Amino acid sequence: MKSIEDLDVAGRRVLVRTDLNVPLDIAAGSGDRPAITDDGRIRASVPTISKLVKRGARVIVCAHLGRPKGASYAERATARLSLQTVAQRLGELLGRPVTFVPDVAGEPASKAAAGLADGTVAMLENLRFEPAETSKDDAERGAFADRLAALAELYVGDGFGAVHRKHASVYDVPHRLPHAAGDLVLAEVEVLHRLTRHPDRPYVVILGGAKPSDKLGVIGSLLDRADRVLIGGGMSYTFLAAQGYEVGHSLLEAERIPQVSALLDEAARRGVELVLPVDIVAATRFAADAEHDVVPANAIPADREGMDMGPQTRQVFGQKLADAKTVFWNGPMGVFEFPAFAEGTRAVAEAISRTAAFTVVGGGDSAAAVRSFGLPPHAFSHISTGGGASLEFLEGRELPGLAALQEPS
Ligand code: ADP
Ligand code: MG
Repeated sequence: MKSIEDLDVAGRRVLVRTDLNVPLDIAAGSGDRPAITDDGRIRASVPTISKLVKRGARVIVCAHLGRPKGASYAERATARLSLQTVAQRLGELLGRPVTFVPDVAGEPASKAAAGLADGTVAMLENLRFEPAETSKDDAERGAFADRLAALAELYVGDGFGAVHRKHASVYDVPHRLPHAAGDLVLAEVEVLHRLTRHPDRPYVVILGGAKPSDKLGVIGSLLDRADRVLIGGGMSYTFLAAQGYEVGHSLLEAERIPQVSALLDEAARRGVELVLPVDIVAATRFAADAEHDVVPANAIPADREGMDMGPQTRQVFGQKLADAKTVFWNGPMGVFEFPAFAEGTRAVAEAISRTAAFTVVGGGDSAAAVRSFGLPPHAFSHISTGGGASLEFLEGRELPGLAALQEPS
């Protein structure tokens, strides 16, 4: 893959695809503009943009935010999912103005791109306001990619969190412009190589988060590589249910139970330790102030919902991590957004930070969670900006955005 050092950017319009899909809190914002609850992804995008600016490029930043719904740009373009607040924060972090363009690839965007001076930055509106950005139809996506590519002379792919998507701005535009990978993408790929090529052992993987369907594929391929797989969070209830336990109102993907059972058998056959929670913090309802108790993982009351792992599980997971030499963690261990249910996630974060291992945390919510705990800056070897992207990489799949950047231009 080429790096930005290989591009002659001075005086040229450079379209930079970044990942600025930050978590938002609607209640904390002003008007219907939500507040940014964790700006880690914006910070991670700064080095590449700064470098390009210093070299005299005319930088056009593009990114997506959330999942706007609707059949047309007009229906999708809501204030709630506008990138305007993000553009403002990017400007603060860059220490220079970022001109926000309330358009993606139409007339106003063309005008703004054409009017850029050397060493200045503009940012386009949410790419996903254009339905074609994520279209499965190659021609539809391609037509939009033509318009987007026409804004610039060069393309830099730096949105690691989106490289697993076959989207116009990620996959089709680099086929239309001379391109290079940004520093963030190069750094993320280097870390993932370290996890896939000869990791130091024991190699412990911790998976949590909401749904097993997102992560069953990677667990399957990790059985080849990891020595231990610890499973917590919302996805653990499908594993508990697969063992025949009552899980009450906890998150459950009943249709995945056969697949999960097969995984449990496969792990046993291969001698990979697959570790599940032994106790659960179970609440009466899904709310920050819900009444809750610790219950055994094999006996969650039928009228309760699992919100976090219990104290005994925190200890077990801590022991399973203590001698690790390589750790990869994706997915919170509980509903950490509610302080009463953040202890499992916190305990795992602390246990990982105590190891002498090469440690990687991946995933938007996981990264936000660990940053919210205020651990020292070097508590982890690497906090990845990509959840799905790093999981698919570990699974051994080809990532469309990386494949496109690897092609000669
Ligand atoms: P990441 O973004 O790090 O990849 P996911 O998006 O897969 O992680 O999952 C994060 C979400 O999972 C969080 O919003 C968290 O509240 C939720 N979650 C974790 N445990 C539970 C649980 N027991 N019940 C419901 N949701 C949970
Ligand atoms: Mg997430």
